[in-house]
Amino acid sequence: MKLSKSFETSMVGSFPRPHPVRDVFASNAEIDPIQISTPGKVNETSVNFVKGIDKDYEFDQKRSGKKDSPDTNKDPQLNYMDGLVKYAVLLQEIAGLDVVTDGEWRRQAYTHVINDLCNGFIQDPRPGIRFGLIVTEPISAKQPGILAKDANFLINNSDRLTKISVPSPYILGARLWDPDYSIKAYPTREKFIDDLVPILNYELQELVKSGIDIIQIDEPDMAVLLDPAKEPIYGDREYDLRLGSNKINEMIHGIKKVRTAMHMCRWNSLNRGWHWEGGYEPIIDTLKSINVNQFFMEFSIPVAGSVSILKELPEDKLIGLGCLDPRSETIPSSGDIVRRVEEALKYVSPDRIGLNPDCGFAPDIRHNIPLDECYAKLVNQVNAARILESKYS
Ligand SMILES: [Zn+2]
Repeated sequence: MKLSKSFETSMVGSFPRPHPVRDVFASNAEIDPIQISTPGKVNETSVNFVKGIDKDYEFDQKRSGKKDSPDTNKDPQLNYMDGLVKYAVLLQEIAGLDVVTDGEWRRQAYTHVINDLCNGFIQDPRPGIRFGLIVTEPISAKQPGILAKDANFLINNSDRLTKISVPSPYILGARLWDPDYSIKAYPTREKFIDDLVPILNYELQELVKSGIDIIQIDEPDMAVLLDPAKEPIYGDREYDLRLGSNKINEMIHGIKKVRTAMHMCRWNSLNRGWHWEGGYEPIIDTLKSINVNQFFMEFSIPVAGSVSILKELPEDKLIGLGCLDPRSETIPSSGDIVRRVEEALKYVSPDRIGLNPDCGFAPDIRHNIPLDECYAKLVNQVNAARILESKYS
């Protein structure tokens, strides 16, 4: 498996959702608009953004037409979201990215897509808990092939390479299972994630048929095990690492003719920074055992360790090199990004390196940062890639 070219440029996944996207969710979501907090202290201001309280207008839900429209084939809200996603794609194309995503604007959070895929979840009733959903019934497929449908839209609306992200079974088990609420459906987290695997594998099979170019599995929770302060969720560190990696391999079993990737990071709380610290050394052997083609890894933050760790990865693994921090307001110059990539070039050949931010710009709908800031970062990332191409290709 190869990159489309040396220094291929992409986003990790998400763009911040502007008000029109949030308005569509506010008037349409089966689950209430997300009110999760990021790890640590709840930031009420940003929660209010989701509720719409910061707005100086009142969105008339009837304007979206849902309540007055018996014709579900012409769901205007779906049309609104399609139009909004076209805008997200267009921004990436104008910035010059080689790979585009839908900005994850069809999801409230990167993990929430599981509520579109499966029955069995309710809105998380626990106070102060972060993740919005909880499993209370044995899960069953709700809309098989919905990710392929999203992929088809992307493919039909861009001539660039396309990417869709899917959360890993391990992280869904870690976040959406709670003994007080889930035990009747699943006595253990592991039983829950065992049931997730075939549903996710089916979605991946359908994604392959859609013609998507890249399937990215989001797996931050396993990656933060590189921090000694991180308590393993399932057992001990080795058990957690083995479980997480095995489940990704099961999830992608039989998935061929498409590039598979895994994203990891130390969590993204925007201006409150990251939550876990350390280089990749403690998990590098685990990474070698995961059968994806590419790793999207963060390197722009000072606690991410040395980029020299990349020499430990097998030569057939492609790298999505995190070369700008989505949490920071600072827009790195093209020269800054070139220097970061050149450090990695000491260990990895140009044809294995893609350029991307460390993480999605907005893992959930509550993450509110200016789209213009993201756009400016991506433009400089693309300029850096062009400088590198002329120097090294
Ligand atoms: Zn991330």
